[in-house]
Amino acid sequence: MDMPVEVSPAGSPMERAREMLRRVFGHETFRPLQEEIVSALVSGEDVFALMPTGGGKSLCYQLPALVRPGVGIVISPLIALMEDQVLALTELGVRAAFLNSTLEWPEVCEIENRVRRGSLDVLYVAPERLLQERTLELLAASPVALFAIDEAHCVSQWGHDFRPEYRQLRILHERFADVPRIALTATADARTRREIVQQLALEGARTFVASFDRPNIRYTIAPEGMGRTGLLRFIEDRHGGESGIVYCLSRKQADETADWLRQKGVAALSYHAGLSATERARRQRRFLREEGIVMVATVAFGMGVDKPDVRFVAHLSLPRSIEAWYQETGRAGRDGDPAETWMTFSMRDVTLQRRFIEESPAPEEQKRIQRAKLDALLALVETTRCRRQVLLEYFGETLPEPCGNCDNCLAPPATEDMTVAAQKALSNVYRTGERFGATHLVDVLLGRETEKVVAAGHDSISTFGIGTELNASAWRALYRQLVIRGLLEVDDERFGALCLTEKALPVLRGEESFLMRRQPKQAQRRRSERRGSATVEAAMSEDDRALLKALKAWRLEEARTRGVPAYVIFHDSTLRDIATLRPHSLQALSTIDGIGEKKLESHGAEIVAIVRSHVGEAS
Ligand code: ADP
Ligand code: ZN
Repeated sequence: MDMPVEVSPAGSPMERAREMLRRVFGHETFRPLQEEIVSALVSGEDVFALMPTGGGKSLCYQLPALVRPGVGIVISPLIALMEDQVLALTELGVRAAFLNSTLEWPEVCEIENRVRRGSLDVLYVAPERLLQERTLELLAASPVALFAIDEAHCVSQWGHDFRPEYRQLRILHERFADVPRIALTATADARTRREIVQQLALEGARTFVASFDRPNIRYTIAPEGMGRTGLLRFIEDRHGGESGIVYCLSRKQADETADWLRQKGVAALSYHAGLSATERARRQRRFLREEGIVMVATVAFGMGVDKPDVRFVAHLSLPRSIEAWYQETGRAGRDGDPAETWMTFSMRDVTLQRRFIEESPAPEEQKRIQRAKLDALLALVETTRCRRQVLLEYFGETLPEPCGNCDNCLAPPATEDMTVAAQKALSNVYRTGERFGATHLVDVLLGRETEKVVAAGHDSISTFGIGTELNASAWRALYRQLVIRGLLEVDDERFGALCLTEKALPVLRGEESFLMRRQPKQAQRRRSERRGSATVEAAMSEDDRALLKALKAWRLEEARTRGVPAYVIFHDSTLRDIATLRPHSLQALSTIDGIGEKKLESHGAEIVAIVRSHVGEAS
């Protein structure tokens, strides 16, 4: 099956691109910036594209690869993902393959031949494979439509995903000056952008920056200290049976949380760099192929998690920065359906991260950047404004109105002046010699004559019993806030004793006030809100839902027989459209988004039969 997709030879390249968008990919319209990017590439220009996850980056190079003569070369850092991408393209009738270290020699030769003959549309290669002289020579002797450098932020040394081979990719510019290149990333920070342009010699490229807003993602930052019980409640209440990712700080926390969630009946797996490569690949594959798996992971899990129907991303500990948080949460809801993020953390995370920065061997300038990033993140945690507005402002965008889809918009919190209480709490730390943890400190403030209080003689100091205006949990929350804002530090070597930092002085002296976000009363969750992402389905009629169920059962069966993830067959949104629009003919079916010619040919008849028999039964 080596036939290229047939399109009418007449017409401008962009007319052909639009035709292929419809016929191959089954989409009626472009997403924002896709058309401009495709057009630039088709006319031979270099492109630098910044688009959020789920923005539709792949189409930006896949479509020009089909329109331009020769094979489109896609450089992708993750071998594990190439296979699924090739599967998905093959399902669309695109001639796609990958070259990486998992292939046997005869397969390599076969693919190389197809490249030479020009009988491939898209070829995925790992960077180290591309840089081999053998591959470079092959490409020099073959028709090449374009080079797409995916996950281009891998060139950045400062980033988490640094791949040294990416730095050598400028060789493409030197050796293939006539072939257009596109670098793509979802990384929003300005410095990484500059580095990409420099390292890849993209100074002459057209730059396209899409909005980084992800309107379908709901942002919630829960109070710190909710822990895994809070997580479980979030999953059970809102995402039972759905796919999600939970980020943890350490391998141990990931393993323990996954075990615990499994005991509670959640289908959880852990994932971190301490597992062997095969075990990691196996778990990632299960996550991609099975439905409803919750991956409990360290940041080692992530880049290019190309699963469109991840319904939630949760954090059990503090991410490193707003960028990291945005990137990690961005893995939710790529398919555009409603998705949710949820975060809690512990005050220890904050101290740990602060210490990590201070003790790192990085130059002072670097540390200053990291401190500022941590503070920006904590400000986002603390804000009473719309989270999305604050987030987008951080990336230099403005959202004119509050979003209505974050915790602060849905249940507005209040700000409270806690200066006096903060002064009491801080001087209590001072009077007790900076040697005690929050529990003891709270006992002193409340005037509790516990054994420990009496033994330490703290029942006779000036702060004993001065805090009866608040209860114990309010004092504990205040101590945590003081840690989060850096007025106190947790000393792990002394069993979590709280110590003053210099930031405490202005508040103690009354030169600065201490404002605190007051948690809104746990709002009674409305029924319609209970199941976050199920709301789209909940809005369907009962009968449509029954049809959807039948369609999903068919998809699961089909995916099993073919050994591909269910979303490679059809996305949820496509099935939902079928269930509500109920096409009775292939012609009607072909108008639904996500159904191109090849899918119509492979599955059309069966789908129409399911729809007809359902309607027959129902009437
Ligand atoms: P990214 O790589 O930017 O995260 P993808 O390329 O994986 O995003 O695309 C995200 C989703 O959007 C995919 O499910 C894809 O099918 C869908 N998509 C892309 N372009 C369009 C379009 N023009 N119309 C409708 N859906 C699209
Ligand atoms: Zn909002």
